[in-house]
Amino acid sequence: MPRPSVHNPITKSYAIDQIEDIEQLRKVAHRMWEAFLASHAQSAHLINALLDGQCEKCLDAMTGDRETGCAEWQEWQRKVSDGFGSV
Ligand SMILES: [Zn+2]
Repeated sequence: MPRPSVHNPITKSYAIDQIEDIEQLRKVAHRMWEAFLASHAQSAHLINALLDGQCEKCLDAMTGDRETGCAEWQEWQRKVSDGFGSV
């Protein structure tokens, strides 16, 4: 029996509403928070790379001279991807 939800059944929001285990809900919340923080850090990092050239590797990634951003960028991206796969 599904829990009540105002969200469309094919959405992550609906899936979140179906979680009954509080520990699972905590894990999802932590992963999403980490993803949010990582996404914010990526934005700030890219702005600094663009405006001040603070990261050559990420600049190169943006212009196509490099496949991915720097190691820090890749770690943030891993957290963002984990966040999307949380539920
Ligand atoms: Zn970088």
